[in-house]
Amino acid sequence: MQVPFLDLKIQYQQIKDELWKELSEIFENTSFILGKKVEAFEKAFAKAHNAEYCYGVSSGTDGNHMVLWALGIGPGDEVIIPANTFIATAWGATLCRAKPVFVDCHPESYNIDPAKIESAITNKTRAIVAVHLYGQPADIDGIKEALETINFIEKEKGVFINSKTGQVIYLVEDCAQAHLSEYKGNKVGTLGVASSWSFYPGKNLGAYGEAGAVMTNNEELAKKLKMIRDHGSEEKYIHKIFGHNYRMEEFQGAVLSVKIRYLKKWTELRRAIAEKYYRQLGKFDFIMLPKEMSYAKHVYHLFVIQVNDKRDELRKFMSTMHIGTGLHYPIPLHLQPCFKYLGHKRGDFPVTEGLAQKGLSLPMFPELTNAQIEYVATTIKKFFER
Ligand SMILES: *Cc1c(COP(=O)(O)O)cnc(C)c1O
Repeated sequence: MQVPFLDLKIQYQQIKDELWKELSEIFENTSFILGKKVEAFEKAFAKAHNAEYCYGVSSGTDGNHMVLWALGIGPGDEVIIPANTFIATAWGATLCRAKPVFVDCHPESYNIDPAKIESAITNKTRAIVAVHLYGQPADIDGIKEALETINFIEKEKGVFINSKTGQVIYLVEDCAQAHLSEYKGNKVGTLGVASSWSFYPGKNLGAYGEAGAVMTNNEELAKKLKMIRDHGSEEKYIHKIFGHNYRMEEFQGAVLSVKIRYLKKWTELRRAIAEKYYRQLGKFDFIMLPKEMSYAKHVYHLFVIQVNDKRDELRKFMSTMHIGTGLHYPIPLHLQPCFKYLGHKRGDFPVTEGLAQKGLSLPMFPELTNAQIEYVATTIKKFFER
């Protein structure tokens, strides 16, 4: 038996006919960038997340940058981000020439630990990026409470103002791994002032190339985001503000318009697979399973278990048994060479560091079969009982 970590070919076979119909229209229309298909997708994606404004952009990384840029984050500012995330979360801050300030993750949710936010806040803090990592929403109310205890009151969605000093902190979301995920019954994406999304091919909703989105319910911010995406203009050749080319290609809009029709179904399949993993692996005390928090609807972009020691040996063994696995992420952000200037050392964020050593991502995609799931479970068991 073979169990790839991710298999995108099965989905292609399922949607092939619909896909080629949409794509061939683009060749006929010769409208290749920000056309009708991108627009249709933006509408559908906004609707799926109960959002007012959504713009298709060139990638999730670009979306991370755009959101902080539109909020006016710049040199001298500090942006709080979890130490446990993909590096692109940090690029949002660094591309604005701001300083990323890392916070450790919570041992159960693997997301930013609200209890550790307060000590990271200074009078230069301008934003907090809540990442809904692996598909599980961050503890938004926990973050709000942390801000409230130091007099930051939410004046409008995701905009916190210090009642004494007037300092403003924005709460934004990195939803790259959390399509259709819910926090206390509300879809992610509008839990803060704005959010960014990735449609990297391997994400829960994946394009056939680079693509992302930004989303907000804030009209003023929406206008800025739309302008930044297209050279700072609303009207051709009139450039009101600084911008860049962060536009989405029409081919990606077409692929995403087709795939979004299946997103709900695929999400439920992911949840069903997670359920089966819980049932099959729950009895093994040599591993720790991920936990769906009480406030969360987890969409299982990744199913990350923890293996106390022998993680790498288990991974090798699974590989010889033709099972693909992943590491998310083997080197935490604060220990990356590029962030050496921040002066961190091993031990600064022990929960994140522990996860980097013990975490192992099991195969996870909607088309995994029962036989494959069982095979993964028996293989893990075999390794520990050798
Ligand atoms: C994938 C990812 C991104 C970046 O998305 P791209 O579309 O690949 O640029 C950002 N943040 C997180 C948490 C991600 O997983």
